[in-house]
Amino acid sequence: MNETVKKGGISVQTEHIFPVIKKWLYSEKDIFLREIVSNACDAITKLRRLSSLGQYDGGDETYRVDVTLDKTAKTLTVSDNGIGMTAEEVDKYICQIALSGALDFIEKYEGDNQNNGIIGHFGLGFYSAFMVSDSVEVLTRSYTGAPAVHWTCSESGSYESGEGSREAHGTTVVMHISDEEAEYLDAGKIEGILDKYCAFMPVEIYFENESDDTDGKSKKKDKKKEEPKPINDTTPLWLKNPSDCTAEEYKDFYRKVFHDFREPLFWIHINADYPLNFRGILYFPKISNEYESIEGQVKLYYNQVFVADNIKEVIPEYLLMLKGVLDCPELPLNVSRSYLQNNTYVSKVSAHIVKKVADKLNSLCGTERETYENVWSDIRTFVEYACMRDRKFYDRVKDSLLLKLTDGKFLTTKDYLEAAKEKHENTVYYTSDPAAQAQYIALFDAQGVQVAVFDHSLDSQYLSTLESYETTVKYLRIDADVAGALKGDGETTENADLTALFRKIAGDEKLKVEYVALKDGSVPLLLTVSEQSRRMEEMMKLYAMSGMGSMPPFPSEATLTVNTASPLIAKLGGMDDSRREQIAKQLYRLALLSQRKLTAEELKEFLSGSYEILNLI
Ligand code: ADP
Repeated sequence: MNETVKKGGISVQTEHIFPVIKKWLYSEKDIFLREIVSNACDAITKLRRLSSLGQYDGGDETYRVDVTLDKTAKTLTVSDNGIGMTAEEVDKYICQIALSGALDFIEKYEGDNQNNGIIGHFGLGFYSAFMVSDSVEVLTRSYTGAPAVHWTCSESGSYESGEGSREAHGTTVVMHISDEEAEYLDAGKIEGILDKYCAFMPVEIYFENESDDTDGKSKKKDKKKEEPKPINDTTPLWLKNPSDCTAEEYKDFYRKVFHDFREPLFWIHINADYPLNFRGILYFPKISNEYESIEGQVKLYYNQVFVADNIKEVIPEYLLMLKGVLDCPELPLNVSRSYLQNNTYVSKVSAHIVKKVADKLNSLCGTERETYENVWSDIRTFVEYACMRDRKFYDRVKDSLLLKLTDGKFLTTKDYLEAAKEKHENTVYYTSDPAAQAQYIALFDAQGVQVAVFDHSLDSQYLSTLESYETTVKYLRIDADVAGALKGDGETTENADLTALFRKIAGDEKLKVEYVALKDGSVPLLLTVSEQSRRMEEMMKLYAMSGMGSMPPFPSEATLTVNTASPLIAKLGGMDDSRREQIAKQLYRLALLSQRKLTAEELKEFLSGSYEILNLI
């Protein structure tokens, strides 16, 4: 450096800054590169703006950022042909503003970083380079043509600044990677960071590995020079007008960003103008089964700079199974979690996303019913879960919640109730296991009563939630209220002898026995369990599984319904005592069988009973 060298010490109020920066947020050190590269992009954006304002004439200059790794020299260099800085600007922006920014940031959050994952995602700007460097050089020349500057700062905080030799406008930041952080001299590592943080930055970024590697990986020496390609996509799809994007583009973008080769079910392109001013694309991913992890990935960007994944404050937790990108330039980059939690802008963004998701479901249901029905089984769990978590969301989508019927058709609850009005009011009949409850389904079918399928492990809670939202509508499993749904006009006569006999067979003196003449005479006996007590038992079962209590026998509060319209029941009356008991036992076991699995003992008796009866032929 020449005589005009200016020496300084960044030490006055700053003696602690470098050690702190050094150990700052171990897990998030990678962000230094994002900070330096995004500064380079900003410098170019500024120059482009000046050019568009007619204050700078760069001709047909192509703007680019170059990231170069040199393992031998132990340097990582980021170079741009942007606005550059004059000596005064280096002094002002780097020595004063950038430093005080970093200081402010550290002061605010230093004690806070232990349990605050989010802070790590945000940067400290230029000085974050010192997290990985022994010293940092800045070689810059302003677009104004002022003399170039060469500024060097060591990790102790002392810097030297003098005239440099750079000829073209722009800035080069050379980071001398420290021995402890040698991993940042690995080309794969750098490529990984660039891909994560810089994939959508607005200026073309090129990466070159100039290392003179002996491990054969050197890109420079042994490969034929390929046409270098930028590592980023400068105009990501979310910036486009939704009406200009094709389905193929949305799918390609999804594949590229999320490496998920299953097609997304559908997507929502959000383009929120003032005052929210954010953009994004959210995808409903395809989930193969209910046990697959449904952790989605919503990437948050700040003006095309990646900030973080899955920030709960910005997108409600129950929508985190979505995959997508959100670009929120209104969010200050250096924010803490508590800031996000209490920020009205953030909660408005979150509410807007919820509204957009609900709008999308409603529009699919209203105008693309077939597509909607095709994806319903995939999205059902998400939608139901969201309804349980957020009453407002439920209110928005309630007319688009579908019931899947046992015959494979779909109806909204409203349409189901409307169609059922003549037969039963305000009751949705459902099965939780179409195979096991086939006998009941057949009974309902025969009477033209439609049965919905709710066979997911969440459903019991979901239905209780729906009943608490809409208190007039009840959900009854088909084995809960057979008498109510399928009662015929025939006369019902009670038979005390039969009641006593069934109680004896069941081994339960208090067994509730009711006599109903059903419309259908084909099934003589049915066991029913009231909806409420069954749900209670299901809950207890869940507790028992989590070790919180013991499980009562099932079904503990069953009612035996004797169908007096059944010819078999009529025949029972005329039989001699031993035949009667034999047949009654068998009928009881059949009723049990359509309610639950038999125990080993019950099954043994059922089989021997069947053979005895067959022997009578
Ligand atoms: P921020 O980018 O948030 O302003 P930084 O600490 O990253 O904070 O940078 C401080 C300032 O230094 C920038 O605002 C800019 O004026 C200047 N600067 C940093 N890098 C460059 C660069 N590559 N080209 C021109 N100016 C730069």
